[in-house]
Amino acid sequence: MENNRINDISFIGEFLDKELESEFFEYDMQRYSKVLGPVALVFGLIYMLFLISDYFALTDQFSFNVILMIRIMFLVLSVVVSIQFKRINNYSNLALFITAYEMVAITGFLLIMHYYETLTILSFFSVMVMTLAIYIIPNKLFYSQLVSIFLSISFYLFNIKHVTGIENSEFIKIIAYNLIVLMYCNIGSYLTNYYKRKQFVDSKELQKASITDYMTGIYNRAKFSEQLNYLVDDCNGSKSLLSLVIFDIDDFKKVNDTYGHLVGDSVIKKIAAIIKNSIRSTDIFARWGGDEFVMLLPNTSINQAMDMIERIRVRIQDNDFEKIKHITCSFGLVELRSNETVESFLQRADNLLYNAKESGKNMLVYESPITDGQVYKESLQVDSAS
Ligand code: GH3
Ligand code: MG
Repeated sequence: MENNRINDISFIGEFLDKELESEFFEYDMQRYSKVLGPVALVFGLIYMLFLISDYFALTDQFSFNVILMIRIMFLVLSVVVSIQFKRINNYSNLALFITAYEMVAITGFLLIMHYYETLTILSFFSVMVMTLAIYIIPNKLFYSQLVSIFLSISFYLFNIKHVTGIENSEFIKIIAYNLIVLMYCNIGSYLTNYYKRKQFVDSKELQKASITDYMTGIYNRAKFSEQLNYLVDDCNGSKSLLSLVIFDIDDFKKVNDTYGHLVGDSVIKKIAAIIKNSIRSTDIFARWGGDEFVMLLPNTSINQAMDMIERIRVRIQDNDFEKIKHITCSFGLVELRSNETVESFLQRADNLLYNAKESGKNMLVYESPITDGQVYKESLQVDSAS
């Protein structure tokens, strides 16, 4: 489970954790990337359609021509923006890009309103429609809030003197409606932002749970198999080195029988922790099941792997396990042969583990792939250090 504080969401509908927020925003914008272009195009077309009401409302030809130019320029801008959206892959700049586009739309709108000699009740409706449009365009809630508040305030400040034929009481009602629309958009948008982020965290946790072994926190068998298939395929193509280790706790049944399953569980967890601290970030370590573990070591020859596994074997053997004095493990180690299948790779490692158990346990058995195609097998028995 992730720390709950990390998942806290601020009043502007964003994760307080900046890294998580940018991860979410990128994921969210990637989902929207296909619709952003069409949304800008539709927005540009609707902006153009308002020319019909301009035509009937304006008597002055000059004003109409200026407005026509503004609307055409915005349509052209929308076409350019809809093409540019596809090219943007820096998602932190995308919100600013969208906001700038919205600001151009609003400035154009305010200019158009300025050319209207008289503004009627319908003009206030258009402010509300513009507000709705801002909240429909995917963007960070904070920027949508800024842009919509800028729109309302600028409209009332700069265009109010053109308003005619509206009584004071009506005017107050209109302002109230405007505020309601703003609140409605904010609450709706906040809830959408909030639940999208909750869902994002839930799906991240689910995704993590689906690849994690519940008890140890390391990869589970499903994730390991996926990585094994991928790396075997990749190494067969690129001729890179790949080593595989399978190991199993020795006489673990006795631990369970003598100390109980809870102590047995703690041994499994401790061994996983020891190994997690002994491997590289590129190594893939998983619980195969029961008291059996697996490790994939990319770009690692059998000789390098041998040294590493020997160190791990001794570290486990020398560790002071709670209640139980000593625990040991047996290891089977192989290196991928050219064009070998996953099944054969696993089977060879498993056979060597069996061999280690048969030969006295607490040992590493490995195969040495030699260039002439012959395979030499060596057993390594190292005495207990303590
Ligand atoms: P060997 O040296 O040959 O490996 O002998 P072993 O006693 O370890 O036998 P084996 O590996 O075949 O059996 C593993 C035992 O581990 C069987 C099962 O009861 C126990 N086991 C499997 N999963 C868990 C678990 O999650 N917790 C605990 N406590 N025990 C488990
Ligand atoms: Mg065992």
